[in-house]
Amino acid sequence: MLYAEIAVEAGRALDRETYTYAVPAGMELVPGHRVWVPFGRRGSAGYVVALQAEDPGIETREIERADAEPLLLPHQLTLARQVAEHYWAPLIECIRAMVPPRIRGGRSSGAGPSARQTRHSRLLAFARPQGAAEPGPPLTGDQAEALDTIRASRAVLLHGVTGSGKTEVYMAAAAAAIAEGLRALVLVPEIALTPQLVERFSRRLGVVLAVLHSGLTELERAQQWWRVRRGEVDLVIGSRSAVFAPVPRLGLVCVDEEGSSAFKQDRTPRYEAGWVARRLAEATGARLVLGSATPSVATYSESRGGGLALARLPRRVRGAPAVVELVDMREELQRGNRMPLSRRLLETVDAALGNEEQAILFLNRRGAATFVLCRECGRSVECLGCSVSMVQHLELDALSCHYCGYTRPVPHECPYCGSRHIRGLGLGTQRLEGMVRKLWPEARVLRLDRDAARGPDGYFDIFEAFASRRADILVGTQLVARGFDLDAVSAVGVVDADLPLHFPDYRSAEAAFALVTQVAGRAGRAGQPARVIVQTSNPDHYSLRHAQAGDYEAFYLDELPSRQAFSFPPYAQLAVLTYAHRDPDHAAAAAREAAETLAAALLRERVGGVRLQGPSPAFIHRLRGEYRWQLTLRGERLERVRLLAPRGRGWSYDVDPVT
Ligand code: ADP
Ligand code: ZN
Ligand code: ZN
Repeated sequence: MLYAEIAVEAGRALDRETYTYAVPAGMELVPGHRVWVPFGRRGSAGYVVALQAEDPGIETREIERADAEPLLLPHQLTLARQVAEHYWAPLIECIRAMVPPRIRGGRSSGAGPSARQTRHSRLLAFARPQGAAEPGPPLTGDQAEALDTIRASRAVLLHGVTGSGKTEVYMAAAAAAIAEGLRALVLVPEIALTPQLVERFSRRLGVVLAVLHSGLTELERAQQWWRVRRGEVDLVIGSRSAVFAPVPRLGLVCVDEEGSSAFKQDRTPRYEAGWVARRLAEATGARLVLGSATPSVATYSESRGGGLALARLPRRVRGAPAVVELVDMREELQRGNRMPLSRRLLETVDAALGNEEQAILFLNRRGAATFVLCRECGRSVECLGCSVSMVQHLELDALSCHYCGYTRPVPHECPYCGSRHIRGLGLGTQRLEGMVRKLWPEARVLRLDRDAARGPDGYFDIFEAFASRRADILVGTQLVARGFDLDAVSAVGVVDADLPLHFPDYRSAEAAFALVTQVAGRAGRAGQPARVIVQTSNPDHYSLRHAQAGDYEAFYLDELPSRQAFSFPPYAQLAVLTYAHRDPDHAAAAAREAAETLAAALLRERVGGVRLQGPSPAFIHRLRGEYRWQLTLRGERLERVRLLAPRGRGWSYDVDPVT
């Protein structure tokens, strides 16, 4: 008799990972098979994660039926287990993340196109090759060297400035893998996955490719998934969830813009696709290329430690780098300019419009949470223990550190210089748009943010309107910073670089560096000099200075000491345990109690080298009518804490959090 360990769909909310069932005689199963089993009063679908001949010594029921073919590949089960362990997620949730909803829903073979489907994603229009592969340009010396490094190593960090030809390197590496009869997977931030990029890959490689993107309809996603699973495509290009695509004979995994927050999933399992890609490459033996102009500090530190080979593309292929200027907004204030746009930025936009060129004004506002910034000295109120900005909570009428819970009243004057010019919320994109329309009444203005880009193709529509020069000025959020490669843009303004710089997150300096670098990379690609005006009250901050000079290494070396001093990655791992409840008092009390229980458990189980902090109000304290408190763990190998963590309704975990 054979027994199977099954991760059961209907057991999602339960603590147990798998259940044992008997395999009926004659049923051929391997790990990865989807089966139907009796569960509770009704049946449920489930996935075979292991088989054993040994009698489990308990009463078992029989599997009712199974798909003819396994749905998942063997390496995917390995991956699901690793994701479950690292991110403290139930195994069944990790498996579910690997199967599109429509296929989970029960259809056991690839569905044909449905007559009801009205919309076809534009991304898919370019997924078929228009002819034979078009040869690429001869690689530059740097590119050829990078390709050699990729050939000679299992895992490579490709550190290349924007426009240095990283995408050409991915394409060459993919072509090499495909020529060996292997397949390639390319992950890009969702927003960078444009029809143009898909077309570029399909033209160059001349192969059929699959596109996996959240903008596809459920049917399209299921169809793409089946083509991948059946081995019908040589190349898969997708956003973060494509890391879970069932690619047989995988030979290459590329992650473009490694470190981008777009790779972090915000629902359970809260994985980071770059982390998963590394495990995927290990499990399949595929080569791994992590490419970025602004790698995360953690990844860069690994390459310096030898954990990743390093290949560099230090120069743009064509065009001069944009000229980046830092404008000191404290001086603007002193000179009586209270507008959020400096005279220098106005001039620069004027000049671009005068030359019939385009301008982008960029304003990054993330979330509802905010912090307090002094306009006179440029500093934000920081937590003394964590060296990050404190979050202003209107509900609590206080500032608090969302890592350690330290709380203080909102000051009326700057604690550093005594100025009364301190402010909370800044300007939003909508107001900025209004201001821009008044300042340049003749110009055609477009706005690109989450509100404006509603709908499945909203982003591409606005992008295309701007790219085809049906507008002169684009005002937008971080959606604008990546994925643009426009020749006619000769002026770029970062309206408020203090927002990312003081964002209450340990990676704020990294984010500010990345932002300015990425934004600068958008301009001047055709060769004409472009100007990037970065407005800030902290023009001396190392992240802005090094971004201005385009010196990642210098930024990295300046950033490391504070990471070490305040125990942040790469020196410690972080996990955030959040408790949410409708009643504010109950939420706070339950979180406090859980913190005490967990602290006691850490002592009892002798889990060393882990610090428990909090409870502190969550970054967004009130969300959808619930009050959220969080506990923060810092230390090494936090998976040791997984089974001690408070569980049950209201609790959720975020390992390696992004905010
Ligand atoms: P990145 O991905 O680093 O931003 P890309 O691969 O998109 O850079 O390259 C930037 C531009 O340079 C693109 O227009 C690309 O076609 C061009 N390019 C890249 N490599 C070469 C090369 N070896 N010779 C000529 N042009 C190139
Ligand atoms: Zn001040
Ligand atoms: Zn703190």
